[in-house]
Amino acid sequence: MIPFNKPPVIGREIEYIQDAIENGHLCGDGKYTRLCHEWLEKNTGAKKALLTTSCTHALEMTALLLNIQPGDEVIMPSYTFVSTANAFVLRGAKIIFVDIRPDTMNIDETKIEAAITSKTKVIVPVHYAGVACEMDTIMEIADRYNLFVVEDAAQGLMAKYKGKMLGTIGHLGTYSFHETKNFVSGEGGALLINDKRFIERAEIIREKGTNRSQFFRGQVDKYSWQDVGSSYLPNELTAAYLFAQFENIQMLHKERLEIWTSYYEELKNIKQFELPFIPNECEHNGHIFYLKVRDLEERTKLMNYLKQNEIQSTFHYVPLHSANAGLKYGIFRGEDNFTSSESERLVRLPLYFGLSEFKNIIKVLEKYSNENQ
Ligand SMILES: *Cc1c(COP(=O)(O)O)cnc(C)c1O
Repeated sequence: MIPFNKPPVIGREIEYIQDAIENGHLCGDGKYTRLCHEWLEKNTGAKKALLTTSCTHALEMTALLLNIQPGDEVIMPSYTFVSTANAFVLRGAKIIFVDIRPDTMNIDETKIEAAITSKTKVIVPVHYAGVACEMDTIMEIADRYNLFVVEDAAQGLMAKYKGKMLGTIGHLGTYSFHETKNFVSGEGGALLINDKRFIERAEIIREKGTNRSQFFRGQVDKYSWQDVGSSYLPNELTAAYLFAQFENIQMLHKERLEIWTSYYEELKNIKQFELPFIPNECEHNGHIFYLKVRDLEERTKLMNYLKQNEIQSTFHYVPLHSANAGLKYGIFRGEDNFTSSESERLVRLPLYFGLSEFKNIIKVLEKYSNENQ
């Protein structure tokens, strides 16, 4: 069976983990965490980057940083992962789902303004498949209504919008290094802070509500409880694995883009398959290669066919507004013209560093299209 995903291994992960063990500093914020922070700040342009235990936790930190209160409203697409919503639901917010664009599967920026009320606090664009949302429009709306923007860039490291790294355009941004993402540490994430006002408090929230980071820098002579917080920092073994990936990120990035482009070139003339669309402003990162077929029935048929041919494929999100918790904690504002229908048509193909059975996958897809004219 060709798997859908294999977590990438670059080669130096074990060496760095060994080094971390020998350094005798296994808890968070040691040498490798520092190296990862420096790498992220230098390569993304964020004012501050903080490693977290997951993107889920980075999102939870944004809800704490923005002082989300019960009754506040947060606007996001329904076609996203549960963590985008949960982070704000945990603080008592009501989730306002708006429709997506059928071309990119991202939040439809033209539907946001109609969903804003006096209770709205945040807009959360999710850059699906590492293809950017229409950020200029979103930032302009946020400016006009005095709202915050948190980019869920879980899938977006190394992707750009008008030359800017995803995650660095909104007030805050989040990355994931879960093993299903492009660059990984098993579980892991990062918070990017692009608005300086949030830096000091973010460090405190991440360290159980204490000013321990300032203490370690020698800025205060003891540390104590300052604010709400939790334990959001990863251990050094996780950071050591991640730094090995960062060091060789170009190799991982280039290969993923090559596989993505090969899929595109090989499949673009098959009329049953609708391929991903990349707007001119966007440089994507080859996170997902998906096809869209006619409808749910056709997708089930194609996925079964791939499985019979020993190729694992997967669909993606069940729209949050239609799930049990979504009905309880959120509401869809405006029409669901595309969220439900487009999500049912989408299937993701295997894409990972080291994928060698590419030609076989193409052959099977061509055969399917010939047999199902
Ligand atoms: C993967 C993902 C997350 C969660 O990331 P974790 O690091 O697993 O917590 C959140 N949002 C989106 C859009 C994702 O793809």
